[in-house]
Amino acid sequence: MKYVSIRELNKTYREKGCTDVPALRGVSFDLPEKGMVFILGKSGCGKSTLLNVLGGLDNFDGGDVIIDGRSMKDFSAKDTDRHRNEKVGFVFQENNLLDEYTVERNVGLAVELQSEKDGGDLVAAALKSVDLEGFGGRKCNRLSGGQKQRVAIARAIVKKPEILLCDEPTGALDSDTGEEIFNLLKNISNNTLVIVVSHDRESAEKYGDRVIELKDGQVISDSAPIEVTPVESKPEVQKKSCGLPAKRAFNIGAGFLIARPVRLALCIIICLLTFTCVGVSDSFASYNREKTIADNLVKYETPYYIFTQTSVYDLADLGVEFGYTKNIFNETEYERLKTLVKCDRYDIVYDFSLNSTFGGAGYHIEELRDKRGETLFFHGVTEFDETYVSDYGFTLYGEYPHNYSEIVIPDYMFEGFKTYGYTPKDGTAQTISSYNEIIGKTISPAHGNGYRTYKIVGVLDTNVNKNVYDRVMYKKYDANKYDAIGMANAVMTRYGLQSVMFTAKGFYRNYYVSELLGEECKETDDCIKSVISPITGGKKAMVEAARIHERYHTELNADNRYDYFMLTGDAQEIVDYEDDTMNLCKTIFFYTALGTSVISALFVLYYVSGVVTEKKRQVGILRSLGASKGDIFKIFAAQNGIFAGGLIALATVFSAVTDVIINSYLTKGYVAKAVFLSFSIRQFAVLAAVAILAIAVGVIIPVMKILRAKPVDIISGRK
Ligand code: ADP
Ligand code: MG
Repeated sequence: MKYVSIRELNKTYREKGCTDVPALRGVSFDLPEKGMVFILGKSGCGKSTLLNVLGGLDNFDGGDVIIDGRSMKDFSAKDTDRHRNEKVGFVFQENNLLDEYTVERNVGLAVELQSEKDGGDLVAAALKSVDLEGFGGRKCNRLSGGQKQRVAIARAIVKKPEILLCDEPTGALDSDTGEEIFNLLKNISNNTLVIVVSHDRESAEKYGDRVIELKDGQVISDSAPIEVTPVESKPEVQKKSCGLPAKRAFNIGAGFLIARPVRLALCIIICLLTFTCVGVSDSFASYNREKTIADNLVKYETPYYIFTQTSVYDLADLGVEFGYTKNIFNETEYERLKTLVKCDRYDIVYDFSLNSTFGGAGYHIEELRDKRGETLFFHGVTEFDETYVSDYGFTLYGEYPHNYSEIVIPDYMFEGFKTYGYTPKDGTAQTISSYNEIIGKTISPAHGNGYRTYKIVGVLDTNVNKNVYDRVMYKKYDANKYDAIGMANAVMTRYGLQSVMFTAKGFYRNYYVSELLGEECKETDDCIKSVISPITGGKKAMVEAARIHERYHTELNADNRYDYFMLTGDAQEIVDYEDDTMNLCKTIFFYTALGTSVISALFVLYYVSGVVTEKKRQVGILRSLGASKGDIFKIFAAQNGIFAGGLIALATVFSAVTDVIINSYLTKGYVAKAVFLSFSIRQFAVLAAVAILAIAVGVIIPVMKILRAKPVDIISGRK
């Protein structure tokens, strides 16, 4: 037989600075398995205290309560949770429903807290038994007092408790409604032990199978005392799992989150402002020249690397100002370059200016003259073949040169002919509109030693990104405008393949140098203008390539000069144009990122801890229904997980978009928009870390505080 045996129960409320209040003083009685037992007494006599102890909502100081042969003194925190969850149902004077939920959800919660998969039938049955069929979908705050109390009873009985504890269940109701409730409880007591606390003697005598009267924490009368012999009950069969299913926790958490949508929206707006500041500031703070160059190589779809060597002479001794530079280099230095950067192949662009000391002179094309009538020129020469074309992914229109008097021009130069026409010697300009019209024509590049005639046998498409160079493709380029894109174009033209003459193998040494140049030029071997390599291997390889100057930068040597290799090209030019500004920003924004992170974290912490504290009562109710500490954590984890996830996702999008906007602002005026800020995994990590850390601290501390308090104190608002 199941029973409850209360033995010499003592409970004294002790509070610092207050006199002790002995609420229960040696209360003893036994209770049967079913029936309706009234605990009667004046206000303050200890009725609620007794009920709370029986329900596991409060502890006691002395004596014992034995339920089913188990002493409550031996209950662990988990046992107490299970006791609330499975054994008892509680009906409070103030129904303690979750007003924002529907009737169904309120009742269903009790089932969900037991991990029951489908509480639907049970909920329907419970609602039927309290005469509330069809009320399931109603919001609780729309119900009358009596109806609410019936919902509370349904919630208490839905999990079929062994003991139903009712604390003045009709205290807030008019007498007719009170009667209804008592009748309902009486019905339930046919197969459940119903303990009703009341100060209403009339009802107690009318409905009670037994009336126990308390005064000043002591039993003063008992209408039908019984005595049961304690029998050690069999160990309980543990329910498989006792705990709120994740999906339910998620729903409740989500409900908590959107309970005050306007405030939530405001919070998110403020968070987005501060978090975007963090993200963008950190984008500035993580500026890195080489990474940015790599980003722009990708952005411009630059088809190849261009490496150059710069030699800076210190001629101070000679009275020449520091900084005299030489941009061409020799075969030995070329071999060294190949050891410094790992590429699939290296191709030399030879210089056309062996007859000028420091490079820079070109090979003027008489037939290609701009609108001022000035000749354009080849900057260099590259010997190429079929493997070259396929390795770089270029396309050749026309034929390969068969001999040293046949050449191929790059597409960029074709654009020149297209813009200015082909001007034969002593003739007028002819319009060129397609590759076929330039193929077969002859040109006569010249320098100091006269000119030579070459036949154009093909046009090589070198994959120049025409979108990037749209403005600088001859016709639209304002040569006087010395901006980043102009410089980029100049570099691509000078060191890249945009104005290179493509020839058969051996052209440079066997023909140009040995046959065309004067003797004095043959003595110098500084004849390499740049080295071209295909871009392979992704961003990391690009960053490595951009770092070549770090790996080779000599000290001032015996010749009073130092040398360094560089990755040159459009991306590098544009980045270096802003490099100083960006480095300044990097320092400033590091501190901005730090400051805004702290502000963001404090704000989030303030918000989430406020939201948790605000839900204290709900937590208390859930605890009284048997929610374990773990369940409560799950709910808050879900609530704040959603919040954190949403915040991080939105802040990521906002920061990334702001980066893009700032990029376009930074490069305003350039035709080719550059990338200076990039939103990478680092910014994401910073945002996520700030959000998660702040939320974790903001949630865990107040939740721990709430959970440390006794459920009864939380519900009553005492703690
Ligand atoms: P009843 O339900 O019979 O009105 P209670 O059990 O609520 O009585 O209270 C019994 C006594 O304990 C009262 O004197 C009350 O003031 C006191 N008491 C109840 N709860 C607390 C508490 N949390 N802290 C201090 N005193 C309390
Ligand atoms: Mg009371």
